[in-house]
Amino acid sequence: MPDITTAIPTRDTVILGSGCAGLTAAIYAARANLKPLVLEGHEPGGQLSITTLVENFPGWPEGIQGPELIEKMKQQAVRFGAELRMAHLVSVDLSKHPYELNLGPGKEPIHTRTLIIASGASARWLNLPSEQALIGHGVSSCATCDGFFAMGKEIAVIGGGDSAMEEALFLTRFATRVTLINRTERFRASTIMLERAIAHPQVKFLSNTVVEEVLGVEEKDVKGLRLRNVKSGEQSILPVSFMFLGVGHIPNAKMFHGQLDLDPDGYIVTRGNVFPTRNGEPVPGVFACGDIQDRRYRQAITAAGTGCMAALEVEKFLEEHGR
Ligand code: NAP
Repeated sequence: MPDITTAIPTRDTVILGSGCAGLTAAIYAARANLKPLVLEGHEPGGQLSITTLVENFPGWPEGIQGPELIEKMKQQAVRFGAELRMAHLVSVDLSKHPYELNLGPGKEPIHTRTLIIASGASARWLNLPSEQALIGHGVSSCATCDGFFAMGKEIAVIGGGDSAMEEALFLTRFATRVTLINRTERFRASTIMLERAIAHPQVKFLSNTVVEEVLGVEEKDVKGLRLRNVKSGEQSILPVSFMFLGVGHIPNAKMFHGQLDLDPDGYIVTRGNVFPTRNGEPVPGVFACGDIQDRRYRQAITAAGTGCMAALEVEKFLEEHGR
């Protein structure tokens, strides 16, 4: 593999993403004295930073707020020597080692012997023109950020997974009524979350229903939703002042198109959890962890687990190939 030699110093490891996976990798790499650089990405802190109470992360019997958990992980990584930088990867050529990370026009590239990809996944939208026009004007993908604005209003939450249940339950603190709209009658949510939402007097369910239009584009303020029942074809208007999306996530792996093997939904394909491939072959010194490579478990604790694995593999790689 050709080497690139320039005046830019070569780092031992760079971590893309500052969610649960990236920060756990940073803690381990920093404790191994690798002085990791963490590029925080477009959504610093990842999905935990926009969630509410995390009740299933071991060690927090009463639960812990997602942003607080992330903040503690950051402090832990920095304490051991990790460097955090507000930047994101634009492109990289993984055929030339050490790797040169391009951070965009006018920014000095970074050279690194190893790369940990922990760029996670971002909220998915319905991609209706009316929805896109009203983002920030009553359409939101972050209940934690925007829930307060729904105070005293009737609102809708879209989706049938744990995110939608969590958002709906959280939003009952503010909204007078939450209508949960699921496109089928099958729910992906875990039983406990679904049962909590069903039992809540302020949460109403609409199944087999899709949003066709968000009303209020001219007024620049959500006035309601035009809905269609997918079984009967019947259309209706639901007068709500807010629509929150809880319809899952899209992996942040665009910059690896053509560089790494991605599955049809754009997730990085890995072997042994953290080893990405390129045309089916491992890529030396490149590791992936967290939601970017995990479409099955997608939990904070599994992201942390694979973050740890990726950092341990970095150590092993540098021992074998030199620093
Ligand atoms: P998810 O489980 O993939 O659920 C996404 C939901 O959105 C599904 O109901 C899906 O419907 C629906 N959906 C997707 N695209 C849609 C569209 N274009 N229009 C309408 N509906 C659409 O995603 P998630 O809820 O974000 O959960 C992801 C993972 O995180 C899961 O493993 C979950 O357990 C975990 N999580 C855990 C917690 C917690 O434990 N507190 C909280 C949040 C998330 P279909 O079923 O029809 O595809």
